[in-house]
Amino acid sequence: MAVVGVGVVGAAVGWNLARRGVRVVLVDAGRPGEGVTNWSFSWVNASNKTATRAYFDLNVAGMAAHRDLAARIGPEAWWHPSGHLRWADEIEAEARLFRTGELLTRWGYRVEPCTGADARRRFEPALAVPDDTRVLFYPDEAWVHGRRLVGRLVDEALACGAELRTGAAVRDIATGPEGRVRSLALSDGATLPVDAVVNAAGPDAARVAGLVGRRLPMREEPGAVTRLDCAESPVRRAMHTPHVEIRPDGDGSVVLHSREVDALIGASDAEPESELGLRLHALARRVVPDLDHARIARTRVVHRPVPGDGFPSVGALPSVPGYHEAVTHSGITLGPVLGRLLADEVVGGRRDPLLAEYRPDRF
Ligand SMILES: Cc1cc2nc3c(=O)[nH]c(=O)nc-3n(C[C@H](O)[C@H](O)[C@H](O)COP(=O)(O)OP(=O)(O)OC[C@H]3O[C@@H](n4cnc5c(N)ncnc54)[C@H](O)[C@@H]3O)c2cc1C
Repeated sequence: MAVVGVGVVGAAVGWNLARRGVRVVLVDAGRPGEGVTNWSFSWVNASNKTATRAYFDLNVAGMAAHRDLAARIGPEAWWHPSGHLRWADEIEAEARLFRTGELLTRWGYRVEPCTGADARRRFEPALAVPDDTRVLFYPDEAWVHGRRLVGRLVDEALACGAELRTGAAVRDIATGPEGRVRSLALSDGATLPVDAVVNAAGPDAARVAGLVGRRLPMREEPGAVTRLDCAESPVRRAMHTPHVEIRPDGDGSVVLHSREVDALIGASDAEPESELGLRLHALARRVVPDLDHARIARTRVVHRPVPGDGFPSVGALPSVPGYHEAVTHSGITLGPVLGRLLADEVVGGRRDPLLAEYRPDRF
């Protein structure tokens, strides 16, 4: 079986297949973990996933799967369960945030209201947040170092007998007379005979789906992410401040993202990445003045892998025997749980109810 794409999603699928005894080849056009997974805000949460109860439950299962994974493979270098702080600076936005907080509490999710002064005293001394600002703390949330997590999962998969091919893009998928997946053609000239394939190609998933004649609609949702270098990170956890999201990235590095800055991408007079990075840095310095001394290491605009209706596409496609999909936004939160559920389905035929609304054949 081949897994096409070794980001957080493909690595989680591949490891789960390999440890269940499936002979699996992981194939990546570039290097594992260096796609969107390396340019993500990487916040593990369900507090931002309240669109439907089913999607919220899937993300809660995603959080639990991360905790299980950390216990199984060790949390070193990738797992940071330090909770999340969020606040707003406009009346309407604050009211929405606290209404969602009440809903989350009714759904059994832990949410702790506090003040700006509490947040500085208990969690983040470097924050410039007014003392009386109403802040929410989500104690069970986390951030993940995506590239390192992928590295760990790939190592674990290889130890279970998986094979890894990097720098090899899948260019064609051949099917047999009854439409069953039979082999992959790679850009390095190799042909891989396979019984089945998992499309985990992230933002390029529609192109890979097209190789079996499938049209997978994907949204166009680019995002800009900046990495700052600083001697020591002045922040200890991921945070949604009113205009910019900030988190540590390990080794004296800080990651920034903002939906407001994303809105500037794609306009006819779109700014270059370097300008977007300067904007993100300016927003972040207003909340964490110590970031004044930080230097922009790199800014990247990347594309979120978002299926047409905004929800994951996971499982087999009955019309193409042997073809499976694992394509999702929020893949950092969902990768480990989707990997486990898809492998359960491939190996044991068990279709988990958590995935009932996310079957590929709805498109
Ligand atoms: C700005 C931004 C912020 C985000 N914030 C969060 C967040 O806070 N929390 C969260 O949970 N999610 C977040 N996400 C979403 C999350 O990062 C992604 O859903 C996740 O990283 C997707 O992982 P993936 O493995 O599907 O894709 P990728 O990491 O992109 O991996 C896909 C891989 O497929 C390979 N590939 C592509 N085509 C081929 C081919 N033809 N042959 C072989 N290999 C191929 C690529 O080289 C790549 O390595 C964010 C995304 C963005 C852009």
